[in-house]
Amino acid sequence: MDNSVETASQNGLAFNPNVAALPPYNAGMNIAVARSISGRDDIARLASNENPDGCSPAVLAVLASPSLEPWRYADPACAALRAALGQKLSVEPGTIVVGNGSEELIAAVSRAMLVPGASVATVVPSFGLHEIEPLAQGAVVTKVAMTYDLGFDLAALEEVIASGPRVVFLSSPWNPVGPALDRGSLQRLIAAVRPGTLFVLDEAYFEFADHSCPDGLEVLRASEIPFVVLRTFSKAYGLAGLRVGYAICSNAALARVVAAAKTPFNVNVAAQAAAIAALGDEAWMLASVARLRGERARVGAVLEGLGFQIAPSQTNFLFLDCDGDSATVASALLREGIIVKAWREKGYENYLRITIGAPADNDRLIGALARIARR
Ligand SMILES: *Cc1c(COP(=O)(O)O)cnc(C)c1O
Repeated sequence: MDNSVETASQNGLAFNPNVAALPPYNAGMNIAVARSISGRDDIARLASNENPDGCSPAVLAVLASPSLEPWRYADPACAALRAALGQKLSVEPGTIVVGNGSEELIAAVSRAMLVPGASVATVVPSFGLHEIEPLAQGAVVTKVAMTYDLGFDLAALEEVIASGPRVVFLSSPWNPVGPALDRGSLQRLIAAVRPGTLFVLDEAYFEFADHSCPDGLEVLRASEIPFVVLRTFSKAYGLAGLRVGYAICSNAALARVVAAAKTPFNVNVAAQAAAIAALGDEAWMLASVARLRGERARVGAVLEGLGFQIAPSQTNFLFLDCDGDSATVASALLREGIIVKAWREKGYENYLRITIGAPADNDRLIGALARIARR
């Protein structure tokens, strides 16, 4: 990587320095690589927060249906999907922007809002793109560290938000840690927002949260501040490979600028049809979420019994303190054919993020961690 940057600059190319300096996005390990390292075929992929239940059969049916026309350009406005979302959420479709995954919308919001030197506030540990996309625009990112008991540092967040950044990026439920802001905490942060700040609440794990967690969209709509709520079909609906996420904006003028910052044909025909089919089968999603929540509680309790400290989770993953470099534990698990994510942000290298998988894969994880804990 560094080599190719050097070679290119020797060829007289001038890069956008903000982009050339970006840290890499730490994506989950590829299955083929894991097979060759572990020598096993049956890889348990517990690193990318995918849905082990797959997706609704209604999605598979629409993907195989002759009504799907791959030779046509997709609707750049995603009108049918936005209408379906508008109805489900009781919001004006004109305030919704659909993205090639919600990650594209993090980039679009950054492009729409940020100029070089603009300030952005987020947390650490963080979802990488909440930092990477602002940095690509030349923004200056301030990160508020989590508390020792693995929660949001509300006082510190309040202070940074009140300092008037252009954009605040927070995920709640929080990737990679797991907890969600409760209603009072979210309202406290909203009250700290000054004119000129856009509050972005990334609810990628919204569906996995229990009833003690507020619906961030509802809380933000009741406030006066400008906001973007991000949600995705990648996690609870199981469409990670198709790439569909959406932004609900506080008003249509903001949505127009966010939409202007995306590419025109960003969501392909298969993805749009699949997302509409997934919305039409909420029962499948709710049943899957119920199974995964049950597994989350079971796996969390067993691992705590083994002596691991685990953050409270409102998501489909657990954030676990290895009491030592988590990369060592991740390598030991990989040798047993289990992929997990060793966190690499500075100060958090002892943590592993582990996706809740199918029960058999979770049992393999528990067995392997029990052997590691005994050493
Ligand atoms: C997974 C995730 C996303 C990205 O989801 P896509 O819709 O697949 O791009 C966005 N934000 C957070 C916090 C996530 O964990």
